[in-house]
Amino acid sequence: MTPAPAFLGEPPVSCNIRILPDCLISQIAAGEVIERPASVVKELIENSLDAGCTRLEIMIEGGGIRRIRVRDDGLGIPRAELALALTRHATSKIAALADLESVTTLGFRGEALPSIAAVSRLTLTSRIRDPAGEGMAWSITVSGGAPLVDPSPAAHPVGTSVEVCDLFYNTPARRKFLRSPRTEFEQIEQVVRRLLLAYPGVACELRHDGRLIHRLDAADRYPSFQDRLDQLLGPTFAAQALPIESAAGKLLLSGWVLPPALARSQPDQQFFYVNKRLIRDRLVAHAVRQAFADCLHHSRHPAYVLFLELPPDQVDVNVHPAKHEVRFRETRQVHDFIRQAVARTLAQGRLGVSVGASSEPGSSARLGLAGQHPRARAVPGVSELPSLYQVSLVWQAPRLDPFSGNAPAADPGQAPPAEVPPLGFALAQLNGVYLLAETREGLIVVDIHAAHERILYERLKSAWRSARLVSQHLLIPQPLRVAPHEADRLEAACPILEPLGLVIDRLGPDRLALRAIPALLESVDAERLVRDLLADLVEQDASAQIESSIDRILATLACHGAVRAPRCLSRDEMNALLRQIEQTERSDQCNHGRPTWIRLSYTDFDRLFMRGR
Ligand code: ADP
Ligand code: MG
Repeated sequence: MTPAPAFLGEPPVSCNIRILPDCLISQIAAGEVIERPASVVKELIENSLDAGCTRLEIMIEGGGIRRIRVRDDGLGIPRAELALALTRHATSKIAALADLESVTTLGFRGEALPSIAAVSRLTLTSRIRDPAGEGMAWSITVSGGAPLVDPSPAAHPVGTSVEVCDLFYNTPARRKFLRSPRTEFEQIEQVVRRLLLAYPGVACELRHDGRLIHRLDAADRYPSFQDRLDQLLGPTFAAQALPIESAAGKLLLSGWVLPPALARSQPDQQFFYVNKRLIRDRLVAHAVRQAFADCLHHSRHPAYVLFLELPPDQVDVNVHPAKHEVRFRETRQVHDFIRQAVARTLAQGRLGVSVGASSEPGSSARLGLAGQHPRARAVPGVSELPSLYQVSLVWQAPRLDPFSGNAPAADPGQAPPAEVPPLGFALAQLNGVYLLAETREGLIVVDIHAAHERILYERLKSAWRSARLVSQHLLIPQPLRVAPHEADRLEAACPILEPLGLVIDRLGPDRLALRAIPALLESVDAERLVRDLLADLVEQDASAQIESSIDRILATLACHGAVRAPRCLSRDEMNALLRQIEQTERSDQCNHGRPTWIRLSYTDFDRLFMRGR
């Protein structure tokens, strides 16, 4: 235990500047690199990858707090260097400042092993590759960064094992911040997935408390990369992702991106690697987001696995102790290259999926305009508007009303009745997305999806609060394949989801079946709904009470149940929607805080057309 500084609790009498003992320096430095068990696992796997391993065995106990062991079949460490490997600022990866400009290894700071050793009981065992096969393994153990003793002989195949026990046993402040073993293991599992995605040539086994969680076979050919995607991100990603391969000068971008229609409700499938190093970078995230700009709702998140390769001297990897971030020399160039490469792939992908669609933004085919409906006719008097406005009036026989409201059937062309409701009567649908309504004072423009979402959300909430959320069984249960950790999470959440009307059964380690949905959601895309819920659940801290996020789950349900643009609504449906908005609390903004409708008064029009009244 670290002795508390003498002046804690009372004001210092005098300031004695002193040099801290090495052990304390290491513990302080460890704080930057080792935040939780997952950071240990990350550093150990990176070392193994740097040592050119082809196999990794990762054994975790008690969420990694009790024990972590990473074994590889890499180069190994000679006996004479074992103690050095545990010494601060000792590395075999760089020798001079100039080397920092051309780092090709994941590690280079010489900090990880000594940092881990300072806050745990660590055993390093290694045997180097020896052509004669006569070499033996050596092992060294250190507790809490205590002085090192000589290595002793050990039994170990060629390669290295690092065993880390009782993490943070000597730094209680850090230990207090650890979450449950289950949450810590989830983080570890994420780290393993993120790192191993970029190394399909490395086989890996991950176990937790003796249970096999992942067994990844090595694959070095391109098609087999798909298997790794399949294993680590689930079958949807591997099957639906659009491949990217783009080069400009010395920049090369490759990987996969999911089409916008499969974008996620969480940013949980965004993997970006720079020279095979996984990074989090706002510039990169922004570039990808911009590529999606005209085809992604702002509440949804793109999903991608992208590898950027560029000369090492074009990127500074030494900007973060845990090496999560990098800095590009030519920021603008990198940003624009990524944006263009992703946008091009999406445009091609869209051409491929939509029948006869033009890839031009705003093209009527892409937006599925009501105007293309055989029974759709141009609005009299409005048809002369420039085609850009693409106004169409939907003339359809009334059908089953999704809003179940009772709308007065106003006939276009007839004078509106004396009693005009606040949001007036429907005139037309614009671009399949907006509803236009006429009131005595002017024009109302409604975002159909946003408004319906808000209405559904309020209804779901009140049904939930009054315990009247009725569920409706699906005629045929919807089967779903997901990643095993997602299935675990969903199973854990079932007691919460069932009262919400969602019944999901687990059929196997990675198979689920959706049996019932809330009756208020009629025609939802059940599979997409469950996938979004899963993303929400996995993203949430496992130890957080799911009850506290009921509203969020209801919001996800509402978003899925709401009419999705573009869709032709009958005039009766449009009027019913207007009446519902009038009756719904807070209906003037959607669940994402955007307005659901706006009003343009005749005075506004007069101003726009500079018409004096
Ligand atoms: P860095 O990776 O930044 O060099 P580390 O503290 O992680 O620093 O490791 C120190 C050194 O120990 C490495 O430079 C490497 O030479 C050696 N080393 C660590 N882990 C392994 C391993 N699994 N196989 C071979 N050598 C290793
Ligand atoms: Mg390292």
